[in-house]
Amino acid sequence: ELIAKSTITAVVGLGVTGLSVARYLARKNSAFAMFDSRLAPAQLNAFQREFPNVEVFLGELSAEKLCQFDEIILSPGLSLKLPAIQAAKTAGVSVIGDIALFVREANAPIVGITGSNAKSTVTTLVGEMAIEAGLKVGVGGNLGTAALDLLADDAELYVLELSSFQLETTPKLSARVACILNMSDDHQDRYENFSAYHAAKQRVYYGAAAVVVNRADALTQPPMSAGLQLTSFGLNKPDFNQFGLIEQADQIYLAFQFEPLMPVSELKIQGKHNVANALAALAIGRAAGLPMASMLAALKKFKGLPHRCEWVADVRGVSYINDTKGTNVGATLAAIEGFAGAQHKLVLIAGGDGKGADFSPLKPAINRFARALVVIGRDAKAIAALAENDVQVAFASDMCDAVAQAHQLARSGDKVLLSPACASLDMFKNYIDRGEQFIAAVRGLSA
Ligand code: ADP
Repeated sequence: ELIAKSTITAVVGLGVTGLSVARYLARKNSAFAMFDSRLAPAQLNAFQREFPNVEVFLGELSAEKLCQFDEIILSPGLSLKLPAIQAAKTAGVSVIGDIALFVREANAPIVGITGSNAKSTVTTLVGEMAIEAGLKVGVGGNLGTAALDLLADDAELYVLELSSFQLETTPKLSARVACILNMSDDHQDRYENFSAYHAAKQRVYYGAAAVVVNRADALTQPPMSAGLQLTSFGLNKPDFNQFGLIEQADQIYLAFQFEPLMPVSELKIQGKHNVANALAALAIGRAAGLPMASMLAALKKFKGLPHRCEWVADVRGVSYINDTKGTNVGATLAAIEGFAGAQHKLVLIAGGDGKGADFSPLKPAINRFARALVVIGRDAKAIAALAENDVQVAFASDMCDAVAQAHQLARSGDKVLLSPACASLDMFKNYIDRGEQFIAAVRGLSA
């Protein structure tokens, strides 16, 4: 069948992003059609209720159909490499994502935050800092509200968390402030290699006025920094235009240049990685023009996001920590190091779908800090193989079993840490479901 001449945009991917794109196009009175490669996408009913007159094409994407459009808005869940998308591109159809539309439309400065880990934490923190400063701010993107649903005429700032997939379909972000927080292996199921993933992340810097980088991670540097306003963060002593840590009278302070700002002990978020996250948020907020006093006030209040290194309960002397959002090796490494201590050991619950990652960077930390490893999911064996002689290994069939076995293995004073280093979809609806099952199983222990 042919598509009506007035239809110029194809929205590909009927998910939260696709819905936000549809709403945006409808507000602009632009005609569009909706595509999804699945036969029954979860959002289909919601979509058809909201847009009863829009044509929907389900099942394998047709290159022939897609080539009839002027523009394709591709959702981050679908790869640019799909043959039908490639064919449309070759035929001259422009292929962009929701963030590119957002950039066209936004009238307020954009802060763009990406990285392998800590995106949601730092994005939320910068948003809280802006709210504390009394700004009308839109916070979202890859977390919470989709970017296009944030657009507001009276917005004074947008703080966006951006995934590598969103950045791939954004020709030029032109951010007021852009930041790659850190780089570690992830999504190797969708990228040819690490440098393709890195290149996608680097796109956050295109057209940026100011850039924030991580001193401990050279891969966060923009390709060319000449003429850019550049600030860095890191856990060492800061120099000019740097945020870092200063020790004074036996206290460690968050600091800018040569000046202490507040004691680290006043942060509510725990672990070394969260100190880095606090410094990153300060650097980003400062580059965006936020006043220091409001930023520090926001930092002191921030309790962290659920499912990220979140304390669940103490059961018979053992603390249970839910880090279900630890979905790659870098995140789990940060969580293990964040909860390591000389006086106790960890029982780590890990496993799931490793997305093709190499788990070996976890090996030293596991063998140093873990008493036991409880493994689950598709890549259970690959994770189990990291344990050396002293670390006990147990295979678990589901989360309840994993928590029960962890409970058996832990000794008083230990911490049981769920930080899977893997995606959840082989066993759970999503990472939140995995975290909720963990919490429920822990509550079951104390009952
Ligand atoms: P993202 O949105 O990038 O997934 P989150 O803020 O949701 O980031 O944190 C995800 C996980 O990453 C956390 O659960 C924690 O395990 C880990 N993490 C948090 N901060 C850091 C950091 N600075 N470096 C490495 N890993 C981190």
